[in-house]
Amino acid sequence: MPKGHISVQTENIFPIIKQFLYSDQEIFLRELVSNAVDATSKLKTLSSKGEVKGDLGELTIEIILDKDAKTLTIRDRGIGMTAEEVERYLNQVAFSGAQEFLEKYKDQSGIIGHFGLGFYSAFMVADKVEFVTKSWQDSPGVTWTCEGNPEYSLDENEKTERGTDVVLHISEDATEYLEDNRISELLNKYCKFLPVQIQYGTRTESIEKEPATEDKEAVTEEITVPNIINNPSPLWKRNPNEMTDEDYKNFYNELYPYSQPPLFWIHLNIDYPFNLTGVLYFPKLSNNLEIQKNKIQLYCNQVFVTDDVKEIVPEFLTLMHGVLDSPDIPLNVSRSYLQSDRNVKRITKHITKKVADKLNDIFKNDRKDFEDKWSDIGPLVKYGMLTEEKFYDKAVKFALLKNTEDEAFTIEEYKEKVKVNQVDKYDKNVFIYTNSPTEHDSFIKAAKGNGYDILVTDTMIDNHFMQHLEGKLGDVTFVRVDSDTVDNLVQKEETTESALSEDETKSIEELFKGQLGGAMSSVSVKSMSTDAMPVMITKPEFMRRFREMNALQGNADMMPESFNVVVNANHPLVAEKLLKEENAEVKGKLAKHLYDLALLNQNMLKGADLTAFINKSLDFLK
Ligand code: ADP
Repeated sequence: MPKGHISVQTENIFPIIKQFLYSDQEIFLRELVSNAVDATSKLKTLSSKGEVKGDLGELTIEIILDKDAKTLTIRDRGIGMTAEEVERYLNQVAFSGAQEFLEKYKDQSGIIGHFGLGFYSAFMVADKVEFVTKSWQDSPGVTWTCEGNPEYSLDENEKTERGTDVVLHISEDATEYLEDNRISELLNKYCKFLPVQIQYGTRTESIEKEPATEDKEAVTEEITVPNIINNPSPLWKRNPNEMTDEDYKNFYNELYPYSQPPLFWIHLNIDYPFNLTGVLYFPKLSNNLEIQKNKIQLYCNQVFVTDDVKEIVPEFLTLMHGVLDSPDIPLNVSRSYLQSDRNVKRITKHITKKVADKLNDIFKNDRKDFEDKWSDIGPLVKYGMLTEEKFYDKAVKFALLKNTEDEAFTIEEYKEKVKVNQVDKYDKNVFIYTNSPTEHDSFIKAAKGNGYDILVTDTMIDNHFMQHLEGKLGDVTFVRVDSDTVDNLVQKEETTESALSEDETKSIEELFKGQLGGAMSSVSVKSMSTDAMPVMITKPEFMRRFREMNALQGNADMMPESFNVVVNANHPLVAEKLLKEENAEVKGKLAKHLYDLALLNQNMLKGADLTAFINKSLDFLK
């Protein structure tokens, strides 16, 4: 029996393979099945060139688990190998590949397929590997056997069929790969879309047979069929023009069973200056954006590589779902290196542009649909505008703002809408918003009463988004509906005359100042309409934002909250009742009660103060 010594300078490469080379033991199956697919594809190529004559016959790759023999076999009917090829490709090339790999990436484990090392990953799970092969060329079959040390044997065999069986004798510490479920799981993870049919065992299928005569019942018959685990022609590899919406939805379901249907999708298909195919879906987003991230699957020629695409697509696009397939993403390098890779940069740019263009298309061609989907796509668009300059430039034209009436506007449209009476003293457009229509109900009513429009900005990302827009646009300022700016806006165009004289105004102001205790607040008496609230609490916009930002960062509240108490000089309770009350104690109590109501309206009356207020109200009722 001819024996050999695997040519390699490092004494024994096998312990190294086991320890460093592979980040993940389970990828051995992906590597071996990929090799089988390659061998089959090469055969097809040779056949199409006329080098291999005649019918190729059945090309299905088989995965065979034999628990008793403790083997797992990967069988293909591809090109096979001659004895010389085995010598050259399995013994020499692979090992020079191993050394090159080790020299370059000593400290990093990663994807090794590109280094001609895939085959040796078999030794992570097997203590003996047989490579039983027969070439398409006219030469005897050979069996290469190796037991995980630099010794190997190479013998002629009796194999008559073209192709290769890789027989793994699973080692004691890897018996999980003798479990049916585990193999199914791995095939499903890595091989689901490989371009050659892959069979793993059989399954039974029931078929209905036509009844022999009318009066007989239909019979179902159980038949055994090969269990094909993959879809060799996945949607992203097919011609977009031939695909229907149904096809895209079905494929989404295949990728993410039991999810809600996607909103829309982008079919990527380019071959120059880099090769990229794929389908990206806009999912229906729920409130928890985090759990929806990182669902994009990355493939390399239909072989699953990873679902961790963080460095490959811009962060905001990790919210999308789907598949990217590119042989041009260098997977055998560290992740931090990926970001600076030229191809990765181009791919990133391309995807970002495609996404913006697609959104723009829908916006242009079906505005209604776009508006309906805005609550789902809005967070992604805003996220993109915050983080990618190029995306911002496109999206600023179709990003939508929605008001309390659920009407949608682009930023330009909205400027136009409010430019008549929502401009501040610096000539900036004032966009009034509420992040909680229920909490701000009375403020919204008051603002509407003054003819203002109010935007609803109630998603997590809106605070940052508004701030970003202010910076980028320059001529817009956002103010919350309960802020003093809104109140001042009213004052600017004030026409209502005050029911109070100057002295009376002064005395009301003093009365309320008496209620404030040490709070860092101011009192102003203003003439508003008689049906506005008698007392309102407004907050300085920037101070409030600053506090909120601090709170978000988990910083303790350093400052007491500051606010303004705005007393409506024209409200009958102020102008009549309060002013004319002669009993000082009653007067004080009344002012306190009006003030408490204003606090209550802002959800600022809490704890003991709230209890006292309720008890006092109960006393009034008695
Ligand atoms: P790579 O596939 O990255 O080149 P491998 O270590 O996986 O590296 O395989 C080394 C070589 O062995 C391959 O390039 C191929 O020529 C050959 N090979 C491996 N598996 C098969 C197979 N099933 N059929 C034919 N040739 C194979």
